[in-house]
Amino acid sequence: MFCSLCIAAVARNSFTVGCSNFRKSALQDHVMTSDHKAALAVPQHQENKELCDKAVLSKQAAMMTAVRGVSWLIKEDLPLSKFPSQMKLLRECGAANLEFLDVSKDVHYDTRTADELLECLAEQVAEEAKSELTASPYVAVMADETTDITVNKRLGLYVRTVDADMQPKTRFLTNVHVPDG
Ligand SMILES: [Zn+2]
Repeated sequence: MFCSLCIAAVARNSFTVGCSNFRKSALQDHVMTSDHKAALAVPQHQENKELCDKAVLSKQAAMMTAVRGVSWLIKEDLPLSKFPSQMKLLRECGAANLEFLDVSKDVHYDTRTADELLECLAEQVAEEAKSELTASPYVAVMADETTDITVNKRLGLYVRTVDADMQPKTRFLTNVHVPDG
């Protein structure tokens, strides 16, 4: 076993001449040695670290594009099953960084991903609603009967709050299924 980092840093230890101890503990011990730590600090490895950081940022940017994609589908009242083709189109149009999520073809663009992203967005909206409700000195609740697209009866609940500048804000809170009424 060799350590390419130590070899590149021209260090002299068992991992630069070839370590014949193949136990996992030998590797664990090696990464803790001062030689290996010094090799990690060499500028060229610093460059590698910068490349890694850049790749992580690109993946985050790609994930943000995916989140915005889901958000757009919801705002336009489109089904989440359109998410894979939406992402495919964005990739074909050269949307920045999307290729960074393409680890194994389409794994990151299935509808399950869209469901999970939607759950994250919903959690965020719920958190915002909660903090608005907590911060508002007055809260008005509005309720109205409505039906969904399958004509099931629902009770729409809205709240009206005021912000720090006493500006009113109306927010949709939830949609309760009414089994009988
Ligand atoms: Zn090393």
